[in-house]
Amino acid sequence: MRQTLTSVTTPRSPGLKATEGWRHWFLRNNTSGAIETVPASALFVLVGAEPHTGWLPAEIQRDDHGFVLTGSDLTSTGSGSAWPLNRAPYPLETSMPGVFAAGDVRQRSVKRVAAAVGEGSMAATQVTQYLSEPADG
Ligand SMILES: Cc1cc2nc3c(=O)[nH]c(=O)nc-3n(C[C@H](O)[C@H](O)[C@H](O)COP(=O)(O)OP(=O)(O)OC[C@H]3O[C@@H](n4cnc5c(N)ncnc54)[C@H](O)[C@@H]3O)c2cc1C
Repeated sequence: MRQTLTSVTTPRSPGLKATEGWRHWFLRNNTSGAIETVPASALFVLVGAEPHTGWLPAEIQRDDHGFVLTGSDLTSTGSGSAWPLNRAPYPLETSMPGVFAAGDVRQRSVKRVAAAVGEGSMAATQVTQYLSEPADG
């Protein structure tokens, strides 16, 4: 049986009931505090996939999940539409000209370390290009 649960922890002791061939997990619901015994041969943990971008100003466009739109996604007919300048945005530029996003926080990014590092150096180059533009953009 496959089941997706959110907001649960495995209490440290005992997190796993070993007496039945390691097939029962004790999971604590973080909202109610209730502990549930779940029959399962494996437990997959998915954490860290939620962007914390709620603090950004409205001028920086995000998708429905909070990921920041950049580059051509701002000018496509999809969810983006708020690019304010005549020139095209740089690939990692957000809807606020001169503000760039790199790594996991960016919509459509690869969500891997190597990609985030590469995008960081790309963003630095694009900032340099942006700063060498004439002031009227
Ligand atoms: C459980 C897990 C396992 C993973 N395993 C792999 C793997 O095996 N291989 C792989 O390549 N990738 C893996 N990844 C993905 C990888 O961790 C990310 O792709 C990478 O860390 C993205 O780097 P980033 O700099 O974009 O974001 P992050 O590493 O998330 O860095 C963002 C930083 O910004 C900080 N921050 C957030 N909000 C603010 C704020 N308002 N002010 C100041 N700082 C703020 C955060 O605290 C964080 O330190 C894994 C991710 C997770 C969650």
